[in-house]
Parts: sequence; C-alpha cells; structure tokens
Amino acid sequence: MNKGPGVQWRRRFTTLALTLILPLAVVWWAFPEGLTPWRSAAIVTAWAGTALLVVNLLLMVRQPHLARLLGGLEPAYLWHHRSGMAAYLLLLSHPLTLAVDGWFEAPHRAWEILAPWAQSWPVWLGWLALVLLMFGLATTFALRLPYRRWRGFHFALGLGVVFGLAHVYVLLGEVILLLLLIVLALLALGWRLIASDLGVASLPYRVSQVTRQVPGMIEATLTPAATALAVTPGQFVLVAFGDGTHFRGCGEYHPFTVSGVAEDGTISLAIKSLGPCSQHIQAMEPGVRVRLQGPFGTFLQESAMAPQLWVAGGIGITPFIAALRAQPRTRHTTLIYLFRRAADAAFLEELTDYANNDPHFILHAVETGKMPADFPHLLQQVDELAQHEVNICGPAPMVNALLPHLGKSGVDPEMIHYERFDFR
Ligand SMILES: Cc1cc2nc3c(=O)[nH]c(=O)nc-3n(C[C@H](O)[C@H](O)[C@H](O)COP(=O)(O)OP(=O)(O)OC[C@H]3O[C@@H](n4cnc5c(N)ncnc54)[C@H](O)[C@@H]3O)c2cc1C
Repeated sequence: MNKGPGVQWRRRFTTLALTLILPLAVVWWAFPEGLTPWRSAAIVTAWAGTALLVVNLLLMVRQPHLARLLGGLEPAYLWHHRSGMAAYLLLLSHPLTLAVDGWFEAPHRAWEILAPWAQSWPVWLGWLALVLLMFGLATTFALRLPYRRWRGFHFALGLGVVFGLAHVYVLLGEVILLLLLIVLALLALGWRLIASDLGVASLPYRVSQVTRQVPGMIEATLTPAATALAVTPGQFVLVAFGDGTHFRGCGEYHPFTVSGVAEDGTISLAIKSLGPCSQHIQAMEPGVRVRLQGPFGTFLQESAMAPQLWVAGGIGITPFIAALRAQPRTRHTTLIYLFRRAADAAFLEELTDYANNDPHFILHAVETGKMPADFPHLLQQVDELAQHEVNICGPAPMVNALLPHLGKSGVDPEMIHYERFDFR
C-alpha cells in the first residue's frame, strides 16, 4: 500500500537505511589497506555486493512483523528488486576492476583474469554465480512471465547467491564476517523456502462455502481449522489452495485481499480469473484445504476523521466490501466503483443495499466499457473533495490516471492511499 509523500519519504529513508547498514558495516570492516586503488576497489565491490545480496534475501522473507517494519510487503519487494540489481552490478564490477588492475601490471594479465579457462574452479564458481544472477534478474525485469514459470526461474537467483558465497568461502576460508553473511543468507533462504513457500509458518483453513459472484470470479469462505489469523478489512493474506474431493489446488501462495472478516475467524476471498492459477481456482469446492499466511498491509486504516472517498476498479472492490460488511459507516463515505460491463460488477446488489440503507454511504457505480474513466466528471460529483481522505484500489493504470486529478482538485497528497494488485 502507498501512503502520502511525507509518509512515503520517511519509509523510504528507513528502508534505505536498513538496506545499506549491513553493506556499509561490512565494507568498513573489510576495507583493504596497502593495495593498488583498482585492487582495493575490486575488494570493496565484492564485499559490498555480497552483503547487499544477503540484504536482498532478507527482504524477500515474507514475515508479517518484518514486512510491517519495512512499511509493507510491497515496499519490501521494491527494495528487494533494487538491492538485487545493485548487488549484481557491484558483483559484476568485481572481476572487471580486477582486470583493470591486471592491465596495469601487464595487458595480457587483464585477459587472463577475464578468461574463465585460465582460472581455477573457485573462480568458476564466481562466474557461475554471476551468470545465474543475470538470468534470474533478466526473467524478472525483462519478461512478464506467468507467476509459476517466473518463480521457477527466480530460484536461479537463490542458487546464484549460494554459488557466490561458496566462491568467496573457498577463496578466503573461515573469515568471521563471511561466516556471518553465510548464516544470515541461509536463515533467510531457509525461512522463505521452509516457513513461507512450504507453508510451515502458515495456518490451516478449510473452504466452507463457494459462491459464483459474476462470470470469472468466485467468492470463497474460509473457516479456520485451529487458530485464526487476526485480519482486518483492507489487509491481504497469502493463500495456497490444496486438494478437495474433486479439486486439485495449484499449491503455490498468491496474495488476495479479504472481502469479508467475521468475528468467528471466518474470512472471505473474492478471486478473479487473471491467470493460470486464479483461473483454476474458479473450480473451487467446499471442503478444500487451504493454508494462509499473513496478514499483510495497512490499506484502509483510515487515519483521520475526514470524509472518505473510495475508488475501486474491478476486483479492487474487495477491501471496500470487507469494510462495509464489517460495520456501518461512521463517517461520510463515497465509493466510486468502476467496471467494464455491468455483468462483471461483483457485489453490485449488495453495495446498492448498503447505499440505500446507510445514510453515511453514497455509491457511484460506473460502467466504463472499454473507455478510460472520466475522472474530472466523476470527481465533480464529490462535494468538498479537497477535505476527503482518498483510498484507491485497482489496476495500476487506473491509479496512475486518477492521481493527477486528485492533485489538481486540492486533495492533500498525505491523504491519498492506494493499493495495486500487482507485485512479485
Ligand atoms: C496485495 C494484493 C492483493 C490482491 N488481492 C486480490 C483479490 O482480492 N482478488 C483477486 O482476484 N486478485 C487479487 N490480487 C491479484 C492476484 O494475486 C493475482 O491475480 C493472482 O496471483 C494471479 O495468479 P495466476 O497464476 O492466476 O496468474 P499469472 O498469469 O501468474 O498472473 C496474472 C497477474 O497476477 C499477478 N500475480 C500473479 N501471481 C502473483 C503473486 N504471487 N503475487 C503478486 N502478483 C501476482 C501477475 O503479476 C499478473 O499481473 C492481489 C494481488 C496483490 C499483490
């Protein structure tokens, strides 16, 4: 979830500080003395890159407390991507700076350093790590792969880190700093693989009801098998659907925002078919076993007594329906709900009922067809817009199109929050 610029800058600073603290400490500790400038640079880039790679692993740990510290899972992933790219560039510059150092000794030394066949197997490990890292980064940034295939390729990055650490260990031996980095990396990788991906840190639920909301979207009610997660409207959970009598789950964890939270611990999820796994989930049946991790996110934690403007695009309606179901509105709330066709508009009847019965709640349901929403016209219908706190949930292009209009209407940027259903 994104908050206003002031909050964003504070968070960015905290995350940046947390990202840099380990690499800076490591470089300070390992800073070489008495070497040529290029050789020193090569050593500094190697240590800084290795430490940043370990930070990168720590940032992919899906742990609710850690995510909260970093301002949410989405910013943590953003910094996971940034630190991964920065670590790769630093590590790539390590052999290049070594080659420049060799060049000053004799030009053929530079070539020897860069030619893998002239090297020993520990150096090969380093090159292998770089190739794996490059492959993992390319499949993340250059291609828009389906989640399952992307995840498979993304494991190359984990392997790249292991080979990279092995390369340094074989060359340097048991240096205390290196051992510390190896332990941290193994803890992060182990946590992510065992606790998160294999679901040891997750809680068991069972699907108790399935309703078909609109074509291509179901709503599943999940009942806790033991302890329930403490979820509030606006938050999301990571969910892996398992097997039922006829249904075979895809088994991997996907993020879904809760569409309902009951006092007995039951939660509801509205799931739209957007790709292979979410399409498969449309065949869900009661009795299916489910594992849940979380909760994550701070969306809809309304900060002020200001009137609320909610803007939902398509399946982005889920946090708002959860809030309306939880309790009647206590402050004035306007919901602009955008959808392409009336047949696709999930929960429309229920929302109309709330609007008819709750004096604090106004609904503008807008069928946009294939055209982009006419935001100037829609925003004119909100009285005293500049006084509102605005919460937006929907596809990134919708959020991006709306933000400038809110700015022009005088809404305080600190009072604009948005959630995009898209991160990896
Ligand atoms: C915070 C958050 C809340 C969400 N809430 C809902 C919701 O309430 N209802 C709903 O229907 N959908 C929601 N989504 C989107 C949902 O997670 C994806 O539609 C689903 O994971 C698609 O997976 P797939 O294998 O079917 O499709 P793919 O072809 O793999 O992906 C289709 C789209 O979903 C995105 N996606 C796929 N897997 C993931 C993943 N593990 N993490 C993040 N994004 C992914 C892809 O980037 C792509 O844009 C939410 C996403 C996020 C990040």
